[in-house]
Amino acid sequence: MATIASKIQEVSGRIARACDAAGRPVASVTLLAVSKTQGPDAVRAAVAAGQRAFGENYVQEALDKMAALADLRPQLQWHLVGPLQSNKTRAVAEAFDWVHSVDRLKLAQRLSEQRPAALPPLQVCLQVNISGEASKSGVAPGEVEALARSMAALPRLKLRGLMAIPEPIDGSEAQRRPHHALRELLECLNSRGLALDTLSMGMTADLEAAVLEGATIVRIGTAIFGARARVA
Ligand SMILES: *Cc1c(COP(=O)(O)O)cnc(C)c1O
Repeated sequence: MATIASKIQEVSGRIARACDAAGRPVASVTLLAVSKTQGPDAVRAAVAAGQRAFGENYVQEALDKMAALADLRPQLQWHLVGPLQSNKTRAVAEAFDWVHSVDRLKLAQRLSEQRPAALPPLQVCLQVNISGEASKSGVAPGEVEALARSMAALPRLKLRGLMAIPEPIDGSEAQRRPHHALRELLECLNSRGLALDTLSMGMTADLEAAVLEGATIVRIGTAIFGARARVA
Protein backbone atom coordinates (compact mmCIF):
# COMPACT_ATOMS: atom_id res chain seq x y z
CA MET A 1 0.00 0.00 0.00
CA ALA A 2 1.31 3.43 -0.91
CA THR A 3 2.16 5.59 2.07
CA ILE A 4 0.70 9.03 2.66
CA ALA A 5 4.16 10.49 2.01
CA SER A 6 4.42 8.81 -1.39
CA LYS A 7 0.90 9.86 -2.31
CA ILE A 8 1.65 13.47 -1.40
CA GLN A 9 4.69 13.21 -3.63
CA GLU A 10 2.53 11.86 -6.46
CA VAL A 11 0.02 14.67 -6.10
CA SER A 12 2.81 17.24 -6.00
CA GLY A 13 4.10 15.71 -9.25
CA ARG A 14 0.65 16.09 -10.83
CA ILE A 15 0.55 19.74 -9.75
CA ALA A 16 4.08 20.37 -11.07
CA ARG A 17 3.31 18.81 -14.47
CA ALA A 18 0.07 20.78 -14.79
CA CYS A 19 1.90 24.01 -13.85
CA ASP A 20 4.49 23.19 -16.47
CA ALA A 21 1.81 22.67 -19.11
CA ALA A 22 0.15 25.94 -18.10
CA GLY A 23 3.42 27.91 -18.04
CA ARG A 24 2.89 28.71 -14.37
CA PRO A 25 5.44 28.56 -11.54
CA VAL A 26 4.90 25.54 -9.29
CA ALA A 27 4.89 27.82 -6.27
CA SER A 28 1.72 29.52 -7.56
CA VAL A 29 -0.39 26.51 -6.49
CA THR A 30 -0.91 25.49 -2.86
CA LEU A 31 -1.81 21.91 -2.05
CA LEU A 32 -4.57 21.76 0.55
CA ALA A 33 -4.81 18.23 1.97
CA VAL A 34 -8.49 17.55 2.69
CA SER A 35 -8.36 15.38 5.79
CA LYS A 36 -12.09 15.01 6.49
CA THR A 37 -12.96 11.59 7.99
CA GLN A 38 -9.23 10.90 8.53
CA GLY A 39 -7.90 10.55 12.05
CA PRO A 40 -5.14 12.62 13.66
CA ASP A 41 -2.55 9.95 12.82
CA ALA A 42 -3.13 10.38 9.10
CA VAL A 43 -2.64 14.14 9.51
CA ARG A 44 0.56 13.52 11.49
CA ALA A 45 1.87 11.31 8.70
CA ALA A 46 1.15 14.06 6.17
CA VAL A 47 2.85 16.65 8.37
CA ALA A 48 5.90 14.40 8.65
CA ALA A 49 5.96 14.40 4.84
CA GLY A 50 6.04 18.20 4.81
CA GLN A 51 2.34 18.99 4.34
CA ARG A 52 1.17 22.06 6.26
CA ALA A 53 -2.31 23.09 5.02
CA PHE A 54 -5.31 20.88 5.86
CA GLY A 55 -8.95 21.15 4.82
CA GLU A 56 -11.90 19.95 6.88
CA ASN A 57 -15.62 19.67 6.17
CA TYR A 58 -17.25 19.06 9.52
CA VAL A 59 -16.68 21.60 12.27
CA GLN A 60 -16.92 19.30 15.29
CA GLU A 61 -14.71 16.64 13.70
CA ALA A 62 -12.16 19.32 12.88
CA LEU A 63 -12.15 20.74 16.42
CA ASP A 64 -11.56 17.27 17.89
CA LYS A 65 -8.71 16.69 15.45
CA MET A 66 -7.15 20.08 16.20
CA ALA A 67 -7.23 19.26 19.91
CA ALA A 68 -5.46 15.95 19.27
CA LEU A 69 -2.87 17.79 17.17
CA ALA A 70 -2.45 20.84 19.41
CA ASP A 71 1.32 20.29 19.62
CA LEU A 72 1.56 20.89 15.86
CA ARG A 73 -0.72 23.96 15.80
CA PRO A 74 1.98 26.59 15.14
CA GLN A 75 3.08 24.75 11.98
CA LEU A 76 -0.37 24.09 10.57
CA GLN A 77 -2.99 25.98 8.61
CA TRP A 78 -6.58 24.79 9.04
CA HIS A 79 -9.09 25.52 6.28
CA LEU A 80 -12.84 24.92 6.51
CA VAL A 81 -14.02 23.79 3.07
CA GLY A 82 -17.40 22.28 4.02
CA PRO A 83 -20.76 23.94 4.55
CA LEU A 84 -20.99 26.31 7.49
CA GLN A 85 -24.04 26.78 9.72
CA SER A 86 -24.58 30.02 11.59
CA ASN A 87 -24.57 28.32 15.01
CA LYS A 88 -20.98 27.16 14.33
CA THR A 89 -19.47 30.48 13.29
CA ARG A 90 -17.95 31.31 16.68
CA ALA A 91 -16.05 28.03 16.91
CA VAL A 92 -14.88 28.47 13.32
CA ALA A 93 -13.81 32.10 13.83
CA GLU A 94 -11.79 31.03 16.87
CA ALA A 95 -10.14 27.91 15.48
CA PHE A 96 -9.60 28.14 11.71
CA ASP A 97 -7.19 30.14 9.56
CA TRP A 98 -9.28 30.03 6.40
CA VAL A 99 -12.94 29.48 5.43
CA HIS A 100 -13.62 28.65 1.77
CA SER A 101 -17.37 28.20 2.00
CA VAL A 102 -18.84 31.61 2.79
CA ASP A 103 -21.99 32.08 0.73
CA ARG A 104 -24.16 34.43 2.81
CA LEU A 105 -23.52 37.90 4.19
CA LYS A 106 -24.95 36.90 7.56
CA LEU A 107 -22.26 34.22 7.93
CA ALA A 108 -19.54 36.64 6.91
CA GLN A 109 -20.74 39.25 9.40
CA ARG A 110 -20.82 36.74 12.24
CA LEU A 111 -17.35 35.43 11.39
CA SER A 112 -15.99 38.98 11.34
CA GLU A 113 -17.63 39.91 14.66
CA GLN A 114 -16.50 36.69 16.32
CA ARG A 115 -12.92 36.59 15.07
CA PRO A 116 -10.75 37.06 18.18
CA ALA A 117 -8.76 40.30 18.20
CA ALA A 118 -5.57 38.42 19.06
CA LEU A 119 -5.67 36.49 15.78
CA PRO A 120 -4.97 37.80 12.28
CA PRO A 121 -8.04 38.43 10.11
CA LEU A 122 -9.80 35.25 9.00
CA GLN A 123 -8.91 34.48 5.38
CA VAL A 124 -12.07 33.75 3.41
CA CYS A 125 -13.28 32.72 -0.01
CA LEU A 126 -16.73 33.29 -1.42
CA GLN A 127 -18.27 30.02 -2.63
CA VAL A 128 -19.83 30.26 -6.07
CA ASN A 129 -22.41 27.84 -7.48
CA ILE A 130 -20.61 27.67 -10.79
CA SER A 131 -22.38 24.64 -12.30
CA GLY A 132 -25.83 25.97 -11.47
CA GLU A 133 -27.01 22.90 -9.59
CA ALA A 134 -30.00 23.53 -7.37
CA SER A 135 -28.69 21.22 -4.65
CA LYS A 136 -25.23 22.71 -4.15
CA SER A 137 -24.28 25.56 -1.90
CA GLY A 138 -22.70 28.70 -3.22
CA VAL A 139 -24.10 31.94 -4.60
CA ALA A 140 -25.22 32.36 -8.20
CA PRO A 141 -22.59 34.10 -10.37
CA GLY A 142 -24.86 37.12 -10.81
CA GLU A 143 -24.94 37.71 -7.05
CA VAL A 144 -21.21 37.38 -6.46
CA GLU A 145 -20.16 41.01 -6.93
CA ALA A 146 -22.57 42.49 -4.39
CA LEU A 147 -21.68 39.89 -1.77
CA ALA A 148 -17.95 40.22 -2.46
CA ARG A 149 -18.10 43.99 -1.96
CA SER A 150 -19.91 43.60 1.37
CA MET A 151 -17.49 40.90 2.52
CA ALA A 152 -14.44 42.91 1.53
CA ALA A 153 -15.61 45.71 3.83
CA LEU A 154 -15.77 43.55 6.98
CA PRO A 155 -12.94 44.45 9.36
CA ARG A 156 -11.93 41.04 10.70
CA LEU A 157 -12.14 39.13 7.41
CA LYS A 158 -9.75 39.18 4.51
CA LEU A 159 -11.60 38.27 1.33
CA ARG A 160 -9.05 36.35 -0.73
CA GLY A 161 -11.04 35.02 -3.66
CA LEU A 162 -13.54 32.51 -4.98
CA MET A 163 -14.17 28.82 -4.38
CA ALA A 164 -16.26 26.33 -6.34
CA ILE A 165 -17.15 22.65 -6.32
CA PRO A 166 -18.16 21.98 -9.92
CA GLU A 167 -20.44 19.10 -10.78
CA PRO A 168 -18.30 15.95 -11.33
CA ILE A 169 -17.79 15.41 -15.04
CA ASP A 170 -15.44 13.32 -17.22
CA GLY A 171 -13.04 14.68 -19.79
CA SER A 172 -10.52 17.45 -19.37
CA GLU A 173 -12.20 19.86 -21.81
CA ALA A 174 -15.52 19.57 -20.00
CA GLN A 175 -13.79 19.86 -16.63
CA ARG A 176 -12.08 23.06 -17.65
CA ARG A 177 -15.32 24.92 -18.43
CA PRO A 178 -16.53 25.63 -14.87
CA HIS A 179 -12.98 26.41 -13.73
CA HIS A 180 -12.62 28.80 -16.63
CA ALA A 181 -15.89 30.48 -15.68
CA LEU A 182 -14.73 30.92 -12.07
CA ARG A 183 -11.46 32.44 -13.27
CA GLU A 184 -13.31 34.87 -15.53
CA LEU A 185 -15.53 35.86 -12.65
CA LEU A 186 -12.47 36.60 -10.48
CA GLU A 187 -10.87 38.65 -13.24
CA CYS A 188 -14.08 40.58 -13.73
CA LEU A 189 -14.24 41.42 -10.01
CA ASN A 190 -10.61 42.53 -10.04
CA SER A 191 -11.21 44.74 -13.08
CA ARG A 192 -14.01 46.35 -11.07
CA GLY A 193 -11.86 47.32 -8.13
CA LEU A 194 -11.58 44.25 -5.91
CA ALA A 195 -8.15 42.75 -5.25
CA LEU A 196 -8.57 38.99 -5.09
CA ASP A 197 -5.67 36.57 -5.45
CA THR A 198 -7.20 33.14 -4.73
CA LEU A 199 -9.03 30.58 -6.84
CA SER A 200 -9.86 27.54 -4.69
CA MET A 201 -10.77 24.90 -7.24
CA GLY A 202 -9.69 21.41 -8.28
CA MET A 203 -10.09 18.11 -6.42
CA THR A 204 -8.65 14.64 -7.01
CA ALA A 205 -10.53 14.08 -10.28
CA ASP A 206 -10.04 17.50 -11.88
CA LEU A 207 -6.81 18.86 -10.43
CA GLU A 208 -5.11 19.27 -13.83
CA ALA A 209 -8.06 21.08 -15.42
CA ALA A 210 -8.21 23.44 -12.45
CA VAL A 211 -4.48 24.25 -12.55
CA LEU A 212 -4.67 24.88 -16.31
CA GLU A 213 -7.41 27.42 -15.59
CA GLY A 214 -5.54 29.21 -12.84
CA ALA A 215 -6.31 27.46 -9.54
CA THR A 216 -4.14 28.78 -6.71
CA ILE A 217 -5.39 26.30 -4.08
CA VAL A 218 -6.27 22.72 -5.01
CA ARG A 219 -8.23 20.73 -2.43
CA ILE A 220 -7.15 17.09 -2.53
CA GLY A 221 -8.48 14.30 -0.32
CA THR A 222 -8.75 10.91 -2.02
CA ALA A 223 -5.42 11.06 -3.89
CA ILE A 224 -3.61 11.61 -0.57
CA PHE A 225 -5.56 9.66 2.03
CA GLY A 226 -7.34 7.05 -0.09
CA ALA A 227 -11.06 6.50 -0.57
CA ARG A 228 -13.24 7.69 2.31
CA ALA A 229 -15.73 5.49 4.08
CA ARG A 230 -19.21 6.57 3.01
CA VAL A 231 -20.73 9.01 5.45
CA ALA A 232 -24.44 8.52 5.96
C1 LIG B 1 -14.01 16.20 0.06
C2 LIG B 1 -13.73 17.51 -0.56
C3 LIG B 1 -12.58 17.72 -1.33
C4 LIG B 1 -11.60 16.62 -1.68
O1 LIG B 1 -12.17 15.78 -2.63
P1 LIG B 1 -11.35 14.55 -3.28
O2 LIG B 1 -12.13 14.23 -4.49
O3 LIG B 1 -11.35 13.47 -2.25
O4 LIG B 1 -9.99 15.02 -3.59
C5 LIG B 1 -12.36 19.00 -1.81
N1 LIG B 1 -13.20 20.02 -1.56
C6 LIG B 1 -14.30 19.86 -0.81
C7 LIG B 1 -15.19 21.02 -0.57
C8 LIG B 1 -14.62 18.59 -0.30
O5 LIG B 1 -15.73 18.46 0.41
